[in-house]
Amino acid sequence: MLRGALLLLFLPALFCAETKDVTVVMDFAEGFSPQALQEMQAEADRIVRKAGVKLAFLHRKEAAQDSYSELVVFKMSGRCEMDSFPALLDERGPLAFTLTTEGRILPFGELKCDRLRESIKTAMVGSDFNKGNQLLGRAMGRVLAHELYHMLARTKGHGKGGVARDALSARQLIAENLELGDHDCAFLRSASQKNFL
Ligand SMILES: [Zn+2]
Repeated sequence: MLRGALLLLFLPALFCAETKDVTVVMDFAEGFSPQALQEMQAEADRIVRKAGVKLAFLHRKEAAQDSYSELVVFKMSGRCEMDSFPALLDERGPLAFTLTTEGRILPFGELKCDRLRESIKTAMVGSDFNKGNQLLGRAMGRVLAHELYHMLARTKGHGKGGVARDALSARQLIAENLELGDHDCAFLRSASQKNFL
């Protein structure tokens, strides 16, 4: 009986959770690897899907033809592709950021692919180098999810762990698993059910 009652209590929560559709417009400044791009999209979507957010991705040219209610724009600067070209190295500054104005979070962000490439190279070992674009895409997806957390939850704050923590190490960017912390996930879920943008 108890088991049945518990099931009934939990089922509505599972089925009533609404999904928020968000369109991510990507604006690539330089080249990108299709494999990295595919991996980025899958990883970012996987992370925020747990908070009820469903992502669709468009290139800037595609997005110009229509209008969308929930839309965020990311500029992808640098080369989003693992290769042997040395990146123009600037060790300072963030891997990605979200624009703000007068304290308000804006739905515009930037991923710095050159910085990301150089960062994850420091954590790659052995066979990692055979799947460089996959790992770069995974890292891109995680910093994208981090910035989406700021945008969709409308907060400059950070979580204590997981994707929303204030700094992600090179190891965390390419590790097998990195999720939103439970508290951050619940926060994002409740904030994103409102019309946020
Ligand atoms: Zn942050």
